[in-house]
Amino acid sequence: MPDNQDQLQQDQPREDQPREDQLRPVWNVAEHPEFLVHSLIIGGIGMSGIGADRGSVGPSLVCRADAGDGRDGRVLITATNTAYGFSGCTDAERDAARESFAESALAAGIRDGDLVDVSALALVDFGTVAQLLSDAKDRTFVLDRDLSRVERVTTYEQDHQGDILALEAVLTFRPEKAQPTPKEATGHSPRVGFGEPLVFPAPADTVTIRQQVTLRPLPTGFDPVPFDPTIGAMPGGVVHAFDKIAEHDAQVRYLRRHRIAERPIVFYLDPAMPEVIKDAVLVGGNWWAAAFEAAGFPGGYRVEVLPDGRELQDPRLNIVYWTHRADRGWSYGMSQSDPRTGEILRGNVVLGSQRVEQVRAMAEAVLAPYGAESRRDLVDRIVAARLRQLAAHEIGHAIGFAHNFATQTHQVPSVMDYPGPVYEVVDGQVRAPEPYATGLGPWDFRQVKALYSATADQGVLVTGEDDELIFITDADSRVDEAADGSSATWIMPRPVLPALAEVAAVRATALANFSPAVVPPGSDSNEIERRFVLVYLLHRYQAIAAAKLIGGITRRYATTDHDQFAGSWSAVPQQDQDDALAGLVAFLSPEFLAIPDHIRPLLVPPSGGVGRREGQFGRQTAEAFDGTAAITAGADLIAELLLAPERLNRLTEQNRNGAGVDLGAVLTATVGYALDLLDADRSEAGEAIGWAILRRYEQTLESDALHHATRVATFEALGDREPARKAVKHRWDALEKAAYTAKAKLPPLPLGTPI
Ligand SMILES: [Zn+2]
Repeated sequence: MPDNQDQLQQDQPREDQPREDQLRPVWNVAEHPEFLVHSLIIGGIGMSGIGADRGSVGPSLVCRADAGDGRDGRVLITATNTAYGFSGCTDAERDAARESFAESALAAGIRDGDLVDVSALALVDFGTVAQLLSDAKDRTFVLDRDLSRVERVTTYEQDHQGDILALEAVLTFRPEKAQPTPKEATGHSPRVGFGEPLVFPAPADTVTIRQQVTLRPLPTGFDPVPFDPTIGAMPGGVVHAFDKIAEHDAQVRYLRRHRIAERPIVFYLDPAMPEVIKDAVLVGGNWWAAAFEAAGFPGGYRVEVLPDGRELQDPRLNIVYWTHRADRGWSYGMSQSDPRTGEILRGNVVLGSQRVEQVRAMAEAVLAPYGAESRRDLVDRIVAARLRQLAAHEIGHAIGFAHNFATQTHQVPSVMDYPGPVYEVVDGQVRAPEPYATGLGPWDFRQVKALYSATADQGVLVTGEDDELIFITDADSRVDEAADGSSATWIMPRPVLPALAEVAAVRATALANFSPAVVPPGSDSNEIERRFVLVYLLHRYQAIAAAKLIGGITRRYATTDHDQFAGSWSAVPQQDQDDALAGLVAFLSPEFLAIPDHIRPLLVPPSGGVGRREGQFGRQTAEAFDGTAAITAGADLIAELLLAPERLNRLTEQNRNGAGVDLGAVLTATVGYALDLLDADRSEAGEAIGWAILRRYEQTLESDALHHATRVATFEALGDREPARKAVKHRWDALEKAAYTAKAKLPPLPLGTPI
């Protein structure tokens, strides 16, 4: 890795214009009998509920063009099986691996001497678009070859690794046969309704997209480094070393990373970004530069706007796309890589333009900024702060990093976390002086050093440094009933329990100050209700994080070291579990969940001719606001967390070992509380909360996931309840019967043979 800036500049990818001098796309198979094939959607469908967004990438494949039989000159272009059929040092070992597993013939090329016409490769549906459309619409879509063709053939020169051939094609998909009117949208479109697309945002029945397919000589000189699950990296290449089967498992995973030794990693921004977005993405994206510098790669990374004359689809460049979709969806950080080694050859980030819409709506809902004295600038500041985080996050994926959802107590949270906004109450008003963290956290510095200083000879070198920085990723974080007590998404960057009280205070203030000033002047009337949902459920993610403490465990990712193991689990301390229960129970009170009188008259359906947008409470009142449905949702948010079968099973086990909050306390605070409430409180909130908790308990009792011993224990923990109110008594009797007669399943014995 050169440390001299001039040297780095000279080692830039060549800025030559791509060469469009070829009449037909040909590949020299004598020079490159094997080559990498990548694909990129350069003209997307435009609906995140379906997929195939502009800027998304297909699989990374190693292909070869086999010789034909000599009669028609046709050769098959075949994807080799790099995951399974790619191991061994001797010819015999390599043959055994290759011949043991299927390959995938993709297209037929025409051979003329050393050259193969690879046009057909451009029409391969690498993005599985036909499948995506078929799944989304529940009807079969097929590629229409008559309406698909190669439109551009380009060569992109490279100094060291050989030139890249790029084919751009239009691919058209059509329903296999006509079908009656589609039922309803399957995407989560925010504007499904009058005059808006119900199927996909294409003007007619066929769906035409644009795809770039590139052929790239096999890179050389990149030594793969085995994957280490402790450093925050994403697994890249997966191969199976069957020649080593006598020594260890066949599967070998490699770290996914860029080659940094020869030139800096540069990401270029889509020039279509609006100015303020571009500014935010530039700042956030460039945060990583400090970590590369600290890791010994000064000048090794930067983000800049795509210069005039360069192309977004230039396969030599890492790109941040600004992509529009008809619905709001996720942003992605992806890469095209070498599947043999994990080397990232092109980082591709897709930033969805409507992502900011929800951030803006949340900020508006909490701040009510559009009063007589408009505070719109506060909203803009929050959106910009979130975008800086998002840019760093998605680029983080494209340089090789996984999520870390347990950084809320780090000195600065990781940009690879999902951050929640930080609001505070000052003089009876909600304020957001620092809505999101600025810059990288210590975990981000550590993971850059760990990933990019690892070597093939020595592996990961930072083991042992900053050991207190906890790392927990998706598998242990994504579901609400997850066992891990330290990871959660969209929460405040501070200890979970104090933050629970803070978010409750912000919610109370925002509800007290709620007014039509939560929406910009000129908005449709139903936008007020959409903002109300966001305030009313403001505590939802912090509540999930607190619930994870109850019956939760802590562990750390570790590998074994002879008789040493640093990854053992332990139960979350009982005091934390008790405090979490107390905090959550407060969210089940009628005072907390009642809908304030001054708000209710503002909650109206859309005006005629305006579609209702996603993300609203259910209604059993036709279009009128349904207070019972809203309060029920608010109560069930907490009841579902506390009565999750998996959580109750873990608590039962922890209680047996003298740990964890008492199972009886959880049942008393939920089901027992509901019975008392239904006997004593006939208010709208009392009724809705009480019945919601009993309904959730009924579902828990009926769940296959609940151990029968736990099921019985939950009921016995409540003692001999005799509700006074007839309606409650009958319901309670039914629950008792359900508890004792529920079908319980027996788990299968794990597979043991062959031995
Ligand atoms: Zn992510």
